[in-house]
Amino acid sequence: MDISYILNELGEERENYFNAIAPPIIQTSNFKFNTVDDFRSALADEYQGNLYSRGFNPTVDILRKKLAALDGTEDALVFGSGIAAVTIPVLALLQQGDEVICVENPYSWTIKLFTDLLPKFGVTTTFVDGSDTAAIEAAITPQTKLIYLESPNTFSFEVQDLEAIAKIAHAKNIITMIDNSYCSPLYQQPIAYGIDLVAQSATKYLAGHSDVVAGVVTGKKELIKRIFEKEYMNIGAAVAPQNAWLLLRSLRTLPIRLEKITANANKVIEYLEQHPKIEKVLYPFSKNNKQLDLAKKQMKACGGLFSIVLKDPSLEKIETFCNSLKHILMAVSWGGYESLIIPACAGVSKADFDVNNPRHVLIRIYVGLEEPEYLIRDLEQALEKVQNL
Ligand SMILES: *Cc1c(COP(=O)(O)O)cnc(C)c1O
Repeated sequence: MDISYILNELGEERENYFNAIAPPIIQTSNFKFNTVDDFRSALADEYQGNLYSRGFNPTVDILRKKLAALDGTEDALVFGSGIAAVTIPVLALLQQGDEVICVENPYSWTIKLFTDLLPKFGVTTTFVDGSDTAAIEAAITPQTKLIYLESPNTFSFEVQDLEAIAKIAHAKNIITMIDNSYCSPLYQQPIAYGIDLVAQSATKYLAGHSDVVAGVVTGKKELIKRIFEKEYMNIGAAVAPQNAWLLLRSLRTLPIRLEKITANANKVIEYLEQHPKIEKVLYPFSKNNKQLDLAKKQMKACGGLFSIVLKDPSLEKIETFCNSLKHILMAVSWGGYESLIIPACAGVSKADFDVNNPRHVLIRIYVGLEEPEYLIRDLEQALEKVQNL
């Protein structure tokens, strides 16, 4: 399907709302029925249509159609957060006694799901180095029901061989799921490689303006219906119509935003890579990445997210650099219009900080829509301060 058709037309039944170009926000909790018979059939199968907005809602439905089509699959559910789009499908797929294989170093709350929450229900998880497909295969047991991927992850950017892992999983009837937030559907299409479920934090590129928290999962109708009927409805993490509408509005500009963000990030990376005070820049398409070929095979581009390591890093140097930035904001999240920075050391107590731990010294940068020269000037003056230590 043509991306312009998906973003401009698909799912938009304008004759149903006065031929308005922009869809309405159907801000309602419930929908009325004319006969008991109609009511009965709606209650018997809520997946059919509109009954109550904890399930489906017409504004959200437009978004569901577009998001499923963007991933090249049949259906989508939209959630009140990205982590709900991870947690709820995972809960739906597993039972007591099942086992999960998860790649190392996924998103922080995904780690908590597998290490803190699921053990309460008798589900255990093995974390495996995702760059080692053979290690994933070797970790499979008769109880393995789910292989959970995040390719690339959003701090150190390791990737997994999606096609090879999906093949191994399917041969053993194991479901595969990926967190595709880093790439978005524009830069990576996991369904095409045989992955069953694709989750994304819609808070990031899809929303793109740092004003909405939401999530999405896409896949075949049969799987999506299974997630919808019990866990989606029971946990009650539906997106609000207003936020769905903001996401529809954001999707119109997703390609042009990503194009500009990627071009900006490439210029900033080019500057940082030649800077004498920068030890290295980590991102999937770095020529120093030992997974470069695989990343290039699976991904169209990298977008705005990457990490750096300062030369001879110390806590003082990292803090001086980050505290000195004037325009690049220190905050969580990414994918919006504004450039951001997170030093990994902010998530570690001062006592636990270990300068020899390669993950502790990472500084993650997200490049947004500002002009690259403006960002480079900010980085330049902050790096100058580091020199004066
Ligand atoms: C932000 C993020 C999430 C969680 O999404 P929320 O919308 O914050 O709940 C999950 N995975 C990745 C990779 C993320 O960056």
